[in-house]
Amino acid sequence: MPRSSRYVQDIVEAKSIKYNCRVYERTRRGEDTIVLSLGEAHFDIPLFPFDDLPMPAGYHYSDSRGIPELRALLADYYESRFGVTVDPATEIIVTAGSKIALHMAFMAILDPGDEVMIHEPAWVSYPEQVRLCHGQPVRLPYDTPVAEYGRFITSRTRAIVVNNPNNPTGRLLTRGEWEQLHELADRHDLFIVSDEAYSDYVIEPGSFISAAAFDPAKAHTIVCNTLSKNYGMSGWRVGYVITNEDLLFQILKVNQHLITCPSTILEWYMVRHFHDVLAITAPQIRDVVLKRREVARMLDDVGLRYLAGEGTFYLFASIGDSELGSDDFCTRLLEERGVCAVPGVGYGDSCDRFIRLSVGSEPLDRIRTGVERIAQLVRETAVTAAPAMTAGMAGTAAAAAARR
Ligand code: PLP
Repeated sequence: MPRSSRYVQDIVEAKSIKYNCRVYERTRRGEDTIVLSLGEAHFDIPLFPFDDLPMPAGYHYSDSRGIPELRALLADYYESRFGVTVDPATEIIVTAGSKIALHMAFMAILDPGDEVMIHEPAWVSYPEQVRLCHGQPVRLPYDTPVAEYGRFITSRTRAIVVNNPNNPTGRLLTRGEWEQLHELADRHDLFIVSDEAYSDYVIEPGSFISAAAFDPAKAHTIVCNTLSKNYGMSGWRVGYVITNEDLLFQILKVNQHLITCPSTILEWYMVRHFHDVLAITAPQIRDVVLKRREVARMLDDVGLRYLAGEGTFYLFASIGDSELGSDDFCTRLLEERGVCAVPGVGYGDSCDRFIRLSVGSEPLDRIRTGVERIAQLVRETAVTAAPAMTAGMAGTAAAAAARR
């Protein structure tokens, strides 16, 4: 039998998806699970009418850059919300979700062997996407300050990936950190690939800053964003990529060969209902961020630490003195206690003392039960005579920042 590609054989499964599939299996068997693993927030969004959408156009392919009306809405959104000017004709492509937008961006900037710096905790797909482009992910341990990123740059470095706010910590980059990153990019001729998928889960005005705010010409900045997380519409598969005209044309060619265009009818739906969706989800997003704060207090109450952050709907909690690695911890948590979380090791080797908790899909009382069961499993599996500081954070700058 002919063999499959070595590059693909080497790719690892997405841990978050793997654990969520276990939840689907348990649900099919009728077993109750407290789901703290889901990568989305569940919102109450009505189904707006489809019968006024343009037909038969909706049945057919549409502009490979995305329907111009939707591009205009998204460009306007970036300008009014984040002060970033985007030319809808030349600087944005609407894609089938942002995962493919990121991948096409990597394809457009990487030659085989090029290195891409990825800070941990790193969303599960960045390293694998880079490897699928025959590039080399260079992982920065979770407690590496931006001021030290320069140490990881070599003659092969082509790009730095930034996930702001970060999945899974919720951490936001400060203005000062952005300035340092853009200065590095200028000095070493690097791209900044900025994944802004959780841009709206930030309720303090002005605390989310888009990468493109520092590079208005988008000379070295590629921004990816999506409707999946911000508006709880992951099934719609609508994302987008923003960069300068020349690079965007390179990405467009890849897009034409890989997906042609996103779903035409769903693009039209968004054209008609973009502002309705924004208005309906805005208060719900605020509630999710407040809920996240409440869950942080629950973790405080049971003595579980977590890395600093205030955006998204995730918390990256330490499993403290448990003798288990994060994968074994999450397996036992699921099989013995009916609580599903995602192992931190999926976000990088430096993160094996953590688990990711999502507050997006369960009510607070069930999350409280889940948190108590996690704390109990940590206690029951604790290494005896463990040091006072949790293993994952001891001696790091993050340890000081971990408790709010
Ligand atoms: N970026 C981050 C950080 C994510 O967590 C995800 C999904 O989990 C994505 C991008 C991809 O989202 P989508 O392809 O649904 O737009």
